[in-house]
Amino acid sequence: MNIVTRFAPSPTGKFHAGIYRTGIFSYLFARHHGGKFILRIEDTDKARSAKEYEENILDALQWLGLEYDEFHRQSERVEEHERILHDLVERNLAYVSKETNDGGVVREVIRFRNPNKTVTFNDMIRGEITFDTTELNDFVIAKSFTEPLFHLVVVADDAAQDVTHVIRGEDHISNTPRQILIYEALGEPVPQYAHVPLVLAPDRTKLSKRKGAKPVTEYRDEGFLPEAVLNYVAMLGWNPATDEEIFTKDELIQRFTLDQVQKSGAIFDEVKLRWFNREHVLKMSVEAFEAKVTEFMSAELAEKLKVTGRLEKLMPELRERTETFNDIRTMEEGGEFLYYVEAPTYEPESLYWKKDPDPEHTKEHLNRAMALLEPLEAQKWNLESVKDALWDYAEKAGKGNVLWPIRYALSGREKSPDPFTLAGILGKDETLSRIKTALGLLSR
Ligand code: GLU
Repeated sequence: MNIVTRFAPSPTGKFHAGIYRTGIFSYLFARHHGGKFILRIEDTDKARSAKEYEENILDALQWLGLEYDEFHRQSERVEEHERILHDLVERNLAYVSKETNDGGVVREVIRFRNPNKTVTFNDMIRGEITFDTTELNDFVIAKSFTEPLFHLVVVADDAAQDVTHVIRGEDHISNTPRQILIYEALGEPVPQYAHVPLVLAPDRTKLSKRKGAKPVTEYRDEGFLPEAVLNYVAMLGWNPATDEEIFTKDELIQRFTLDQVQKSGAIFDEVKLRWFNREHVLKMSVEAFEAKVTEFMSAELAEKLKVTGRLEKLMPELRERTETFNDIRTMEEGGEFLYYVEAPTYEPESLYWKKDPDPEHTKEHLNRAMALLEPLEAQKWNLESVKDALWDYAEKAGKGNVLWPIRYALSGREKSPDPFTLAGILGKDETLSRIKTALGLLSR
């Protein structure tokens, strides 16, 4: 059997994890089985659908890497839906009904002639489900021949697009019996259903825009990695049957099965998502990491760091400190890159270590540091070689006494990375030149 799944979002609001998680499951299931994955935009409800939401869905799927094999827009099939409605009415399986609403206005709707029977289906997650459809009455399937409603179009399109597996939220379970009746009326095979548990907010209510559910593109703009979001959201309600948690897209495809999908709701926790992001940041190649860093810093800063050769040297330090790439932006805004692009200015008193604020001692420590660093070869200059050169002296003379003035001379700031890291990134010439400047200030 050739497996065909579809993801059928309605472009009526923010595209948050409660929605795209079923898209991820449908995608992984199709790819796992070498089947087809269809994207269908369900925009028949014209009053609620908006182009901007559709565009956001497309952007988000592209960013997440959920490529689809077919694309459909439900509204473009309205003639086919009209044909089906006429056919059902002609065959007396549906009928036009004149109805008066509360306001006394008479309008026509199309109702499905309910055969009033028991419907049973075998849900791949919830097992056998049986409904007596009698209480559903003759339900409405269209407002008019050109205004079909959800139950009709979802079935018409799934049938036309040969969908074999409908994977969707469990809030659709109660819709399924009506839809199965429509399949039977159309003489189309009923697909396999898999109703997945809902995604919940931390307070265990359904995730919604009011509960802080953010559209996926907001995570993109905040510097999350698509592979981390995909990984985390794929695990909402699905258990990979191992203690491992960090998977690439290919690994998710390889492992994904519906029988490992649980029945209870899964909580979307942004703190956990951040942890996943951090783990994926640690796994990035040097090139990919550097590309992301430069994407999140201003072009001007990136350029300045590049021409001085410091961008590349900064990478290990930045990797240590990056949870999401927004952190790079925050660091730039906080002036944390300034000392890598230009020598700092400060008052000489700032160089004094608070526990020994003696200018002569400060001078002596900086002079010793110069003497210890000068013999190092520029090619072998890095965090470790600088540390090796200074460490014994710093231990003997007191770490604060020695390292504070060096660090201040290099950064001009109360807070910055340690002096070895700074010196390693700045390089020999710049490090020595900044220490010299500090000594000059102290001799004035
Ligand atoms: N457009 C429907 C929704 O967003 C799709 C339901 C389904 O997957 O069948 O809820």
